Amino acid sequence: MALIIQKYGGTSVGDLERIENVAKRVIRSVEQGNDLVVVVSAMSGETNRLIGLAEAISAKPDPRELDVLVSTGEQVTIALLCMTLKKLGQDARSYTGAQVRFLTDNAYNKARIKQIDDLHIRDDLAKGRVVVVAGFQGVDEAGNITTLGRGGSDTSAVALAAALKADECQIYTDVDGVYTTDPRVVPSATRLATVTYEEMLELASLGAKVLQIRSVEFASKYKVPLRVLSSFEDGPGTLITTEDKSMEQALISGIAFNRDEAQITVSGVPDQPGAAYKVIGPIGEANIEVDMIVQNTATDGTTTDFTFTVHRNDYDKAMDITQATAKELGARDVKGDTKIVKVSLVGVGMRSHAGIASSMFEALAKEGINIRMISTSEIKISVVIDEKYLELSVRALHEKFELAESA
Ligand code: ADP
Ligand code: ASP
Ligand code: MG
Repeated sequence: MALIIQKYGGTSVGDLERIENVAKRVIRSVEQGNDLVVVVSAMSGETNRLIGLAEAISAKPDPRELDVLVSTGEQVTIALLCMTLKKLGQDARSYTGAQVRFLTDNAYNKARIKQIDDLHIRDDLAKGRVVVVAGFQGVDEAGNITTLGRGGSDTSAVALAAALKADECQIYTDVDGVYTTDPRVVPSATRLATVTYEEMLELASLGAKVLQIRSVEFASKYKVPLRVLSSFEDGPGTLITTEDKSMEQALISGIAFNRDEAQITVSGVPDQPGAAYKVIGPIGEANIEVDMIVQNTATDGTTTDFTFTVHRNDYDKAMDITQATAKELGARDVKGDTKIVKVSLVGVGMRSHAGIASSMFEALAKEGINIRMISTSEIKISVVIDEKYLELSVRALHEKFELAESA
C-alpha cells in the first residue's frame, strides 16, 4: 500500500462541483489501495479577496492579524471537501495547520516550517480515513497562526510528504504539468515529461509560479518524488526528480520570467574600496532583497555606476534609501524604473554547451529588444529588458531554442 499526498490548488477547488471532482479523484486513488492525505488551497480568488479586505482597512495590515484572516480561506475548503467525501461514502477528517501542528517560526506572512506532527494523521489513516489538511498555514511555538507566503500550499504538501515519507507527492493544478514556459504566454509551450529538482528550483526562483520555491527546496532536500498534474484531466504530468545521467539532457528545459522586479541605478559614485558595500549595504539592512547587481568599470578612473534590482513592492523604500546614500557619497544621480522584467533560460544541458548566451542575445537583437542587464550561472542565463517586450522575447526565445518540438 502506498502513501500518497495530493495537493489541489485554488482553481481545482474553485466551486462545489470542482470540489466534488476532487473528492472523486481522491476516492479513485483510495480504491486503488492507497492511503491518502490531501492538502487543499483556498477556493480561487479567496486569498486575494481576504487580502483586499485587510488592505481596505490599512495599507500595511498588522502581520499577525493578516495571517489569522488569510488562513481562513483554506479552513473553508477542508471542511467542504470532507463533507463531500463523506457524502460519497468515504470517511474523512479535516485539520487546520495548527491542529495537525505544522510548527513554524514566527515570521508572519512568510513563515518557515520547522516540524510536523504526524500523530493524528497516522491514527486516522489506520482507521481508513482520508486526511484533509489546510495548506499554507501553521502555528508558532507560542500558538500564533502563521502563513507560508503566496503559493504556500505547495510547500505544505511537500513538507508533509517528507515528514510522512510518502511514496509520492502529487500537485494537482490547472495545467497538466510543468511546461517549457507559461502556456498562458506561449500557447505552443510543451509539457516536460521530467525536470530535475535543480532546474525546477531555478524555474521557480526565476518566476515560474507553478510551484512555490520552498516546495521545490524541500522536495530536493528530502528527495520527495514530486509530480505536477491536472485536476481536470488524466495524464502522466511532469515528474520532478534527480538528474538521470544516462539520459541525454535537453539543452534548455524552460524559459521563466518575472514581472515583479524594479531597477535602480546610481551613477557617479566615487570609485573607492567599500563603494559597493556603501550602496548595497543599507538596502540589505532594511531587509530588502537585492537580486541582480552590476557595477561598471570606472572609465574615467574616479567614479563608477551601480545598477541593481529589487522586488517591485520594495522599490519605493529602496529608492528612498539609495537617494540618501547617494547624497552621502556625493554620487551624481539616482534613477529608477519599475517597468522592467527579467527573462531567463534554464537548462542543465548548458553546463556542457557553449554559445547559449550568444544565441539568446542574437534572438533578442533580431527582435530589436535592448538588454539592460545580464546575469549567468551554471544552468541559467537571465536578462533584464523593458516590460513591453516580455511576451515578444519569451516567444522569440521559445522559437530560437526549438522548445515547441523538443519536449
Ligand atoms: P494553483 O492554484 O493550482 O496552485 P497556480 O496558479 O499557482 O495554480 O500555478 C499554475 C499556473 O502556473 C498555470 O496556470 C500557469 O499559468 C502558471 N505557470 C507559469 N509557468 C509555468 C510553467 N513553466 N509550466 C506550467 N505552468 C506555468
Ligand atoms: N491560498 C494561498 C495563496 O493563494 C496558498 C496557495 O494557494 O498555495 O497564496
Ligand atoms: Mg500555486
